[in-house]
Amino acid sequence: ASFEEFGLHPNLLTAIAATGYTKPTPIQSQAIPVIINGRDVMGAAQTGTGKTAAFTLPILHRLMATANTSASPARHPVRALILAPTRELADQVAENVKRYSKFSPLRAAVVFGGVDIGPQREAVRRGCEVLIATPGRLLDHIEQKNVNLSQVSTFVLDEADRMLDMGFLPDLERIIRLLPKQRQNLLFSATFSNDIRKLARTYLTEPVEIET
Ligand code: AMP
Repeated sequence: ASFEEFGLHPNLLTAIAATGYTKPTPIQSQAIPVIINGRDVMGAAQTGTGKTAAFTLPILHRLMATANTSASPARHPVRALILAPTRELADQVAENVKRYSKFSPLRAAVVFGGVDIGPQREAVRRGCEVLIATPGRLLDHIEQKNVNLSQVSTFVLDEADRMLDMGFLPDLERIIRLLPKQRQNLLFSATFSNDIRKLARTYLTEPVEIET
């Protein structure tokens, strides 16, 4: 398979080539067409498999169809929310998103705890179609009304097993309650414990299961 065969937006193909990827990894070959089709996904994947591009590329592809070049924050509502358990992981996902969206007007921002909230507030208030966040700090921004999640169409839980291990379930539940009911859900986890399966049953709709 090739990235061209997925019908990815030309801006993305340019960014993929600039990054130096020549062909999709196995998880990318499986996940990209399914996510482009709008299905929910439950993916078993370790880091190092190309998992991040497997979900960020199709998300960006879908958003590019309606990307807006206006400078107004109101024209850049959050459309994709990606939750990650740690600052390091959130940062890595954000780096990927920024690299792949470089040739588009889409904006991305990342928020995580342990640092001053001020600069993050500025970044999210400028507007960002893709928001990458750790759960606790996202709730802080929600309380400060820096961010509105009413336009989110795709929701991603990355490393869901680690999120549960770190005790984020109550935070996740609070965040999910603020999302539109009609949305695409993508859940990635290294392992599928009973708790993860229960989370998937509660929040995913007929997910396509992907294993690599
Ligand atoms: P991840 O599993 O998302 O942490 O990605 C692991 C590494 O693989 C990262 O350094 C990516 O930039 C790289 N990568 C992702 N997709 C590809 C690809 N199709 N070809 C080559 N490298 C890739």
